[in-house]
Amino acid sequence: MIELVEKLYDGGRPSDAELAALIASEDEKASERLAELADKVRRKYYGDKVFLRGLIEISSYCRNDCLYCGIRRSNKSAERYRLTPEEILNCAENGYALGFRTFVMQGGEDAYFTDDVICGIISRLRKRFPDCAITLSLGERSRESYRRMKEAGADRYLLRHEAASRELYSRLHPAEMSLDNRKKCLFDLRGLGYQTGAGFMVGAPFQRVEDIVADIRFMEQLRPHMIGIGPFIPQHDTPFGGEKGGTLRLTLRILGILRLIFPKVLLPATTALGTISPEGRKLGLKTGCNVIMPNLSPADVREKYKLYDNKLITGGEAAEGLALLKKEISEAGYTAVEERGDCVS
Ligand code: SAH
Repeated sequence: MIELVEKLYDGGRPSDAELAALIASEDEKASERLAELADKVRRKYYGDKVFLRGLIEISSYCRNDCLYCGIRRSNKSAERYRLTPEEILNCAENGYALGFRTFVMQGGEDAYFTDDVICGIISRLRKRFPDCAITLSLGERSRESYRRMKEAGADRYLLRHEAASRELYSRLHPAEMSLDNRKKCLFDLRGLGYQTGAGFMVGAPFQRVEDIVADIRFMEQLRPHMIGIGPFIPQHDTPFGGEKGGTLRLTLRILGILRLIFPKVLLPATTALGTISPEGRKLGLKTGCNVIMPNLSPADVREKYKLYDNKLITGGEAAEGLALLKKEISEAGYTAVEERGDCVS
């Protein structure tokens, strides 16, 4: 396995079978070497910098019904809320004062946020914070909608592809959703000049090693600027509430592999990773991650934006816990910086 890790580091192209073997490997020495080389690569392009993104969870209303997600429309126990434009602006204001230079507006697919409404908010943010990056994570929209939001001032868009294998995609999503449209959205975003993020959950129900290989192959075509991956964590009010969650080991192994295959990518140590283990985010940073997205949402809505159980609400992942988070980052050997943190070219 170590040879395979070295081959990846040297830019060699592993076969599907080799990639699958590396993903599935339990070889501790190979995992250690993988983390070491992933760290070397991230340091080559990003030094010891960790970019912070202020996450604003703008709505828990969603028209979609993804089987894994706690805010799916069929979940009658989910409490729904949406932030007003003023509340969103306020979150960003607080975030700016704390040193954030990227704001991420994420939410369910909420019909309230028409192009006019969301573009109005983006323009106001753009004007108020000319030195900040504006990232959107609002799901599938038309190319025209993406174009208008870009024109209003958005810079980046996160849309995990969720599963590049057709069979897995259809087991995780209702029949009315399609992998083809998901992929089309991602290529539209990229074509429009967004810094684009794809990604998937690790250890989702029915996911096999071959599916993860398919995810990597898809991303080799898309060439995303950002890749968001985190462990699947069951949410008790969803059809997958009784399933097993993804593991720390496998998530870390995949993070390391992604850093070697996509050397310059922006790779967050996600909240989900921090949720399954107190060491999760630190280990993520040591395995190639260079982004953390603390929560800037008003405290009373964080409880309601529950994609999965036991989501971290306070502490290092909350914006108020920033001092703690910065300490955690520096103890891991990195430095949190007040920068937009664009992808290096
Ligand atoms: N509606 C937006 C934002 C989705 S929430 C969109 O469609 O892109 C952001 C991400 O959370 C999703 O892409 C999904 O991969 C992840 N997620 C949802 N439910 C989860 C769960 N139970 N465990 C772990 N991650 C989950």
